[in-house]
Amino acid sequence: MDQIPDSETKGEKEKMKQVQQERKCPECGGIVRPGYTELVYELECQVQIKDVPANVCSQCGEAFITGRVAAEVNRLVNRVVEDVTSFLKTQPQTRKTRAIAIAI
Ligand SMILES: [Zn+2]
Repeated sequence: MDQIPDSETKGEKEKMKQVQQERKCPECGGIVRPGYTELVYELECQVQIKDVPANVCSQCGEAFITGRVAAEVNRLVNRVVEDVTSFLKTQPQTRKTRAIAIAI
């Protein structure tokens, strides 16, 4: 039986928790706190997404998005671009540069 003693498991969990709480900005070393950011994509049209959940540096304002949020945003952007592209195809001589703003 390769059972891990309870004290060791608990220690590991506490260590992970501590790491999550003490996030520091790799850019400036400032404290990173949960917040929101704005993302702008220059694609077939300009897609601007507001209030994206992110960890934001309290010192330099750099925003860090988790992999899960990034994947959701990507899916959303792809869908919007697809919709806009097919809409534009139905519009003769429509100028392609359009800005789409999404607020989460
Ligand atoms: Zn920073």
